[in-house]
Amino acid sequence: MATKIKAVIFDWAGTTIDYGCFAPIKGFIDGFKSIGIEITNEMARKPMGLLKLDHTRAIADMLPEPISEEQIMTAYGAFEKTLFANIELHCDIKDYVIGVVDALRTQGIKIGSTTGYTSQMMKLVLKKVADAGYSPDFWISPDMTTKGRPYPYMIWENLKQFGISEPREAIKVGDTTADIQEGKNANCWTVGVIMGSSELGFTRDEVKALSAEELKKHKKRVRASYYKAGADYIIDDMNELLDVVADINKKLKLNADRKLLTPGPLTTRYSVKNAMLTDHCTWDDEYKAITASVIKDITNISANEDYTTVLLQGSGTYAVESMISSLCGNDKKILFLVNGEYGKRMLTIADKLGKNYTALEFEMTEPLDVKVVEEELKNNTDIETVVFVHCETTTGIINPLKELVRLAKFYDKKVLIDAMSSFGAYEIDMPTLDIDSLASSSNKCLEGLPGLGFVVVKKSLLEKCAGNALSHSLDLYDQHKSFSDSKGKFRFTSPTNVLLALRQALDNYKMEGGLEARKNRYIENHKVLVEGLEKLGFKAIVKPEYQSHIITTFELGDLDFSKLYEALKEEGFVIYPGKLTTKPTFRLGNIGDVYPDDMIVLIKILDKLLKN
Ligand SMILES: *Cc1c(COP(=O)(O)O)cnc(C)c1O
Repeated sequence: MATKIKAVIFDWAGTTIDYGCFAPIKGFIDGFKSIGIEITNEMARKPMGLLKLDHTRAIADMLPEPISEEQIMTAYGAFEKTLFANIELHCDIKDYVIGVVDALRTQGIKIGSTTGYTSQMMKLVLKKVADAGYSPDFWISPDMTTKGRPYPYMIWENLKQFGISEPREAIKVGDTTADIQEGKNANCWTVGVIMGSSELGFTRDEVKALSAEELKKHKKRVRASYYKAGADYIIDDMNELLDVVADINKKLKLNADRKLLTPGPLTTRYSVKNAMLTDHCTWDDEYKAITASVIKDITNISANEDYTTVLLQGSGTYAVESMISSLCGNDKKILFLVNGEYGKRMLTIADKLGKNYTALEFEMTEPLDVKVVEEELKNNTDIETVVFVHCETTTGIINPLKELVRLAKFYDKKVLIDAMSSFGAYEIDMPTLDIDSLASSSNKCLEGLPGLGFVVVKKSLLEKCAGNALSHSLDLYDQHKSFSDSKGKFRFTSPTNVLLALRQALDNYKMEGGLEARKNRYIENHKVLVEGLEKLGFKAIVKPEYQSHIITTFELGDLDFSKLYEALKEEGFVIYPGKLTTKPTFRLGNIGDVYPDDMIVLIKILDKLLKN
């Protein structure tokens, strides 16, 4: 993972020397003149940045009639002649370059370079420029690698020389689109410089002669071409480069590799994030097929063909709200069983929807009490649906799923479950238990990215509930109709990249060994974590027999949460505040792409922090 900028790799002519990049222009014009062809300045300049022989070929490609290989070599020979005669006259160092290079070096940043000049040409340039006070730490020519720009090989040689393994720790600075493409192909940060560039194409005197209006117009043109080439930053003059470095360093620090010990979003694998790099359309057939496969795979985790999964754009709460809105009767009574904040959130949802409901509330540190629920069901025959949270992420308690479902089914109730933080890491046999529906999301135990909620639901129930939802966008039936009628098409704009990430996350889930392997990893994470913390004197709030292997609440004692948070974040771990009102607590999740080894590292860091 990139940590900070360690190298800046400059282009030569037009970027650090030779204002306007004029040395090669006359050469190309003379070169083509030698084979009887007139080319314009503009043609001579267009392919700037490429290796000069490639540049010659690129000009030849612009000609109305093709020319022979022999003519190309003749033109190139004449080009070289003019260039060698002139090159030393074009070694002026551009504005701010020396000062900026000094400032970069004081930050420990290495100065590299790549070029379109051959090594023979570079030898003349290097000497001249060194005499004037500019010597990068490394130079290389395309003839010393197998290919020049836009191939990234010259940049790779720079990185190799400097011992840098992360291309995002390097910036490529140039004055042509070929420079930007080279940098992008190397996966470096890219910066285009406008003033004195080949893209701008003017001498200092020509720039001076331009009106302010004209100069502005030309600068806009250059900016647009760098932008189109994919530049990360576009600067007027080299003195702005130091701000660019500072800004990138800030971004790299913000994006430092951290383990999130939270209830989601979680630490995700590289492949999951990387899956987001392509753009797709909601209605594209191939994309729809991916969506359909996600629906099938999620359904198969805890159900069978009598069930389907309805994906919803949004976080988990959207799925819970959609489930309650769409699947619960509007007059018939719902019984909510509540022992934490997520249970309470469902009451808020029911209130807003104006659903007819009643709630049994329990202590947050105790599981839902089956006996009390039984009393309620026995005495209130008008209850149609029972709804509760499986793993109450508020505390980390795991509620007695099987007992509660069996009880509700004995009294012939519909059962809907918020299985947000347990789905994928606890066995929930929906068909055998006859669970009607559950809600979860992409960014919990499936280890995808946030942005998708989903409801796994009995198909027969879904059909019965057509038209029942109290919301248009959260209408589970209508959403399902779109997926089933058009083979995987989202009703409204799909979070395409998040879905692709979820597809990858499900592939990873299978590769790891499915529910059993994921569950066992979490169990092991949890065991190592709790044992380690208890050794350090932390006390878990929930009794071990009710404690999930997802997230654990610990007493904070007289520690200051925000200080603890900041200190751990500095060391690469993100923890979660507690939600208990009775005493100060904090929470540690152990789900996501984290392993027992990570827990051991955390415990060591905590130990050290506590001793200080
Ligand atoms: C994460 C979670 C939710 C959903 O929360 P969002 O912030 O909407 O993703 C709901 N219930 C439980 C038990 C959860 O853990």
